[in-house]
Amino acid sequence: MNSHTFAPMIDHATIERILDAAEISDVVSDFVTLRKRGVNQLGLCPFHNEKTPSFTVSPAKGIFKCFGCGKGGNSVNFIMEHENLNYPEALKYLARKYHIDIVEQEETEDQKQQKDDRESMMIVSSFAQKFFTRYLWKENEGRTIGLSYFRERSFRDDILKKFEVGFAPDGKTPFTEAAQKEGYKIDFLEKTGLTIKRDDWQRDRFAGRVMFPIHNLAGRVIAFGGRILKEDKKIAKYLNSPESEIYHKSKVLYGIFQAKREISKTEKCYLVEGYTDVLSMHQAGIENVVASSGTALTVDQIRLIRRFTPNITIIYDGDEAGIKASLRGIDLVLEEGMNVKVLLLPKGEDPDSFAKKMGASGYLEYIQKNETDFIQFKTHLLLKSTENDPVAKARLISDVIHSISVIPDTIIRSVYIKECSNLLDVDEKVLYAEVRKQKTKQNDDFRKKEFREKSKTVAPKPDLPLVKASDFSIEELEFLRFLLKHCKARLFEEEDENPNETEVLSVGEFMIQELENDDLVSENPLFKKIFYEVRDNLDNEKFDSWKHFVNHPDGEISQLATNLLSEKYVESKRWSKAGAFTEQEEDILDILIPKIINRYKFRKIKIMQAEIEKAINVASDVKDYDTVFDLLSTITNLKKVEKELAEKLDSRAFN
Ligand SMILES: [Zn+2]
Repeated sequence: MNSHTFAPMIDHATIERILDAAEISDVVSDFVTLRKRGVNQLGLCPFHNEKTPSFTVSPAKGIFKCFGCGKGGNSVNFIMEHENLNYPEALKYLARKYHIDIVEQEETEDQKQQKDDRESMMIVSSFAQKFFTRYLWKENEGRTIGLSYFRERSFRDDILKKFEVGFAPDGKTPFTEAAQKEGYKIDFLEKTGLTIKRDDWQRDRFAGRVMFPIHNLAGRVIAFGGRILKEDKKIAKYLNSPESEIYHKSKVLYGIFQAKREISKTEKCYLVEGYTDVLSMHQAGIENVVASSGTALTVDQIRLIRRFTPNITIIYDGDEAGIKASLRGIDLVLEEGMNVKVLLLPKGEDPDSFAKKMGASGYLEYIQKNETDFIQFKTHLLLKSTENDPVAKARLISDVIHSISVIPDTIIRSVYIKECSNLLDVDEKVLYAEVRKQKTKQNDDFRKKEFREKSKTVAPKPDLPLVKASDFSIEELEFLRFLLKHCKARLFEEEDENPNETEVLSVGEFMIQELENDDLVSENPLFKKIFYEVRDNLDNEKFDSWKHFVNHPDGEISQLATNLLSEKYVESKRWSKAGAFTEQEEDILDILIPKIINRYKFRKIKIMQAEIEKAINVASDVKDYDTVFDLLSTITNLKKVEKELAEKLDSRAFN
């Protein structure tokens, strides 16, 4: 039976056997790291981007369900969704995984036509891999050139077989001819890039190269990297498959299929640069390793790793220029909330040579002793080149601060600020101010981008009522009043033995930060204007918020500020009734401010929900179900936040 045949019909008994064997958590954990949570298991959803897990697997019920995006089903549904397969294809995938034989039928011409391009391209790639592997081990040319290259570099046979390496015969079209003879269409050979075709002229892309197949998470071959062994400066040493429907370079990591179980088990992922680095580390016994294959790390690649672990160690060989060039890319990793460490190898070593020299235990010991935190590493590296140069040092600080400012977790951020304050000998307060500036800039850039994108789309939008200047909720007015009145007041002072280490956050800083972080700034144009004017003046010592807004050139703003000052809008009475105002407002800001923020958020989320519900009605009227599903998942998220807020709010204080 040929490998490119496909069974459109699978009998009932076989389906039962497949369903019995395909235990849900076993199937899912090929793609997602699951942790036990009561009777269920929990992980990061592979179908939508999330940082806290809402993807749940119930082994007892045999199902998965994501409470973030709503996807759910059994093992077969999971594979269909994840691998983009239809029902019989997903069954076949599971049969392969659990070694269940399916009686296959030879394809008819019709069926061949029906099969979609992606599947055909994967089948062609699988054929190519088997062809190249056989050629490496069995044919004279493969053995004398390809195999001897691997043997010279002392790779063991089991490692070569594990990664299914091969050799592509030299010449114009030996591979293409062999594939066509087996019935593979030139169309798919061309689409996968295995054959280069111009009009009636064609040739093999990888002729005369050692071949490294690139697998997707499910272990199917989707592309190749080929290394030329001849010394010829005109030819690129490494050649990759072109982008195709099944191969998106920026979303794939070399070795992820072979590494994923170990990454999940050790809760750590090593990142190296090249194919042979990955092979060597496996050979040394370190299997939680992937390669970015020479390209700069992308967000999609980071998210792929994050499905299995938040801990990543990037291994560099000691070439400083190369390291400096790659530093920027690592901010991306921090932005995704990952813990990044860096390991610098001794001079003259690369991951390949070092693995061979040290073996697993020596290597791991070296890693443990020498891996450093990324921010520390970056600071040390850059510090070396800034001695006695204040301008260069200022640039370094802003550079390091940028890395810190992209970290989503506030606590981790503050730990880094403390550390850098020591390393750089700069006051923590200065660093905090810098981080805030950077974050402000990032938010501005984001807003501008969002605005540009919004103004570009002319798609029919649901009719939302225009917000009038008078359309403030009580919660918004309370928020603004406290923001303006107590902007400079100190909040959350933590007394320390060392007075220099006291951490101070002003009311203004805290209120601004809370709304910006949750992306809950009111849509009301006046609110927005005041909010961002306060924010932009947080570092301005001379800024007096009351004076500024009462005397504002915009008449509406000055009117509003005046009214707030006279407390015309403010319903403080119900607060005092509940006993909250037994003390002066300014004495209990630490209690009041979080409440005011939460009340505001709660209300804002209610408004957003109402708007989204309207939009859902409009979208479903015009049968735009993509939009409906998107909006539904947004609502689900809002409901979650709403619930959390409701729990935080002490209802007695408000009702
Ligand atoms: Zn999801």
